[in-house]
Amino acid sequence: MPLVLHVDGGRWRAHLRSVVDAEPGTVPVIKGNGYGFGRASLARRSEWLGVDTVAVGQYDELDSVASRFRGSLLVLTPWRAFHADAAPLSGAAGKRVVHTVGRIEDLRDLVRRSDLPGTGPRVVLELLTSMRRHGLSAAGLREIADSTAGNVTVEGVALHLPLAEAGGPGHVGEVDRLLTDVVAADLETRAIWVSHLSPTELATLRARWPDFTFRPRTGTGLWLGDRGALEVRATVLDVHPVERGTTYGYRGRSAPRKGHLVVVAGGTAHGIGLEAPLGEASFRSRAASVARGGLDAAGLVRSPYTVAGKARLFAEPPHMQASMLFLPAGVTPPAIGDEVPVRVRFTATDVDEVRLG
Ligand SMILES: *Cc1c(COP(=O)(O)O)cnc(C)c1O
Repeated sequence: MPLVLHVDGGRWRAHLRSVVDAEPGTVPVIKGNGYGFGRASLARRSEWLGVDTVAVGQYDELDSVASRFRGSLLVLTPWRAFHADAAPLSGAAGKRVVHTVGRIEDLRDLVRRSDLPGTGPRVVLELLTSMRRHGLSAAGLREIADSTAGNVTVEGVALHLPLAEAGGPGHVGEVDRLLTDVVAADLETRAIWVSHLSPTELATLRARWPDFTFRPRTGTGLWLGDRGALEVRATVLDVHPVERGTTYGYRGRSAPRKGHLVVVAGGTAHGIGLEAPLGEASFRSRAASVARGGLDAAGLVRSPYTVAGKARLFAEPPHMQASMLFLPAGVTPPAIGDEVPVRVRFTATDVDEVRLG
């Protein structure tokens, strides 16, 4: 298959198990492209992990997960009236969903639309953090707490924290302040759903707030946390020798030197994009490169593909499902059908196949 994510199955499963064992309340996040694996596959994997809840990003992702994972389904995007068409709000399906609520009017709307006698909709109340993406103020949380009794099941408070800066002060101070607001709101729930806290921060918070249960939501650190278990490789689809000046490609460029064009799987449809231009792109270094006949001077741009041990240049911008690389003379080209490594952003790449080895 053209663009393949190879997974060292044993090593990957051991990593997943170790994350969940270390943080018992872990909530795997399954959203977007499923971190490169696909949402369906991660849903089955979460069932295997034995967690009680997974999180999806938005309502239209529920279907791909609900039939493959039996537990509760947290939706991270806060409720808005315009989500009503995509949201299960009654019956067995409605009972499994935990909605995120960040505004008091949204809670009223959700309660009005739901048909879940006895319990009402299950919600987590999101508090605004320094991210300032979504959420209630401390006053909003108190107000909502007063108005929820009886018609809604509050499953906890959600905090979406920014990514920690290396060597920075961390999140403990901010979480401390927010938990003071939670205590002041006098909610019955003691579950705090959090993201992007380090194991050390979590341990500190658990020790400081023993009455609360922390539920870390994690995607990247879980699914992609052991990069050594994952490798994306692209199949070589074609190879052509070229002389200096041979024209090629959609734009009729001419080859800057003798070498080979190597056509590899993976294009814009897979999420393969142009990398930053070759380093040292200042005018002077570029002029020096022109003088040396350097390939960057020919306007070629670094690609994420490695051939014969080196990152290679795109011969032209990636096509929809394939890319053309330039391999200078002196480097033995790969054979058609060989696979070459390609560096990807997993959350922005759609591979053709995931192969568990
Ligand atoms: C995406 C997301 C997460 C998981 O983020 P990762 O960086 O992939 O671990 C957690 N919480 C919320 C609200 C999110 O949107």
